[in-house]
Amino acid sequence: MTHHTDDATDHAEFVTDPVCGMLIDPTTSATSREHDGTTFYFCSVGCANTFDADPHRYGHPHP
Ligand SMILES: [Zn+2]
Ligand SMILES: [Zn+2]
Repeated sequence: MTHHTDDATDHAEFVTDPVCGMLIDPTTSATSREHDGTTFYFCSVGCANTFDADPHRYGHPHP
């Protein structure tokens, strides 16, 4: 049985803001968006708005 709890409070995993490329901590990000089942985190609402305008330009290329 590999049933481990999803408790990652003791170490932060940093992610990249897809708009500006800044490394941010998801727990302290200004805001986030979910797109195609992936959650993207942003350093600011401005970056999220830019993402909203054209997610595929910043988020991920679609096949
Ligand atoms: Zn997409
Ligand atoms: Zn940003």
